[in-house]
Amino acid sequence: MIIQLQQGIPAEQKEVILQEVKRVGFKANEVKTQEAHYIVGIGKKDFDIRTLGQLPGVADIHRVSDEYKLISRKWRVNPTLIDLGDGVVIGEGNFSIMAGPCSIESERQIELVVEHLKANNVKIMRGGVFKPRSSPYAFRGMGLEGLHMFHQLCSANGIKIITEVMQVSQIEDMVDYVDVFQVGARNSQNFNLLDSLGEAQKPVLLKRGISGTLEELLQAAEYIFSNGNEKIMLCERGIRSYENAYRNVLDLNAVPVLKAKTHLPVIVDPSHGIGLRDYVEPMSLAAVMAGADGVIYETHQKPEEAFSDGQQTVNFQESERLIRRMRQAFELRESF
Ligand code: PEP
Ligand code: MN
Repeated sequence: MIIQLQQGIPAEQKEVILQEVKRVGFKANEVKTQEAHYIVGIGKKDFDIRTLGQLPGVADIHRVSDEYKLISRKWRVNPTLIDLGDGVVIGEGNFSIMAGPCSIESERQIELVVEHLKANNVKIMRGGVFKPRSSPYAFRGMGLEGLHMFHQLCSANGIKIITEVMQVSQIEDMVDYVDVFQVGARNSQNFNLLDSLGEAQKPVLLKRGISGTLEELLQAAEYIFSNGNEKIMLCERGIRSYENAYRNVLDLNAVPVLKAKTHLPVIVDPSHGIGLRDYVEPMSLAAVMAGADGVIYETHQKPEEAFSDGQQTVNFQESERLIRRMRQAFELRESF
């Protein structure tokens, strides 16, 4: 059960509600986010919800039988919109394109990508400065120095930044320089990181784990929300299977299923999802048609020279066509 409390509820009223939640056999968890104040009741007992609903200070109450609660569509029917400022809004009715290199490599590279994004009216640039790599000897990113450069060039050009955070200790140093924190597939169930991002208040794009179920992804998002941050989007980026003709299996089934289960925006990453640049476009178009709220993909001025993930990175010409076609597909979808 979820109870939304009225804004500025007096402590005595809240205490009465907490006592009543316990009396009907539920464990009460208090959650305060940037938007509202809730009590999440955990339990299975049957009781008349009206006894709680009529208490002073209750703004709204619902039963939510899912394991995850606050991110469930059973609690909130209206889709969540994430406002990054300057007219950049992610979620229902908008199709968000986030593009850029796998890794931030140099000032010149950022300038070229920014120029490409601006020419195509793309408002969000991706690029990792802390890179999770399978080999410890591979390029692991430019770190904070790269982030500062990334931020300087993007903010001067009205472009928002999404970049991966790998550990709790990085959040404080990164928070003023990012618009969206990315949680990578390998950290999808790093619960300490998720807790801390709940407190950090900046929007979070949470990727599905390499072998993660949708239930695990949703529960991971619940960690962030229940720690105080409602600005979450989910990302399907492909899962591991026995198939080795491509890097991962982009599970587009996840898009309509997640959209039905949660009010959070759903983004698709076709680059990591298939891992082969020639097929990024068809899978992106399929993602649009499946109902995605946006796509995040890798582009680079010279993919064959990229420091990481060049094999799945499209060049600017391919990127331009991709952007045009995704927008056409989105218009078509909206016209259905
Ligand atoms: C990335 O976005 O470059 C990345 C490392 O993604 P993932 O966590 O999905 O592998
Ligand atoms: Mn990558």
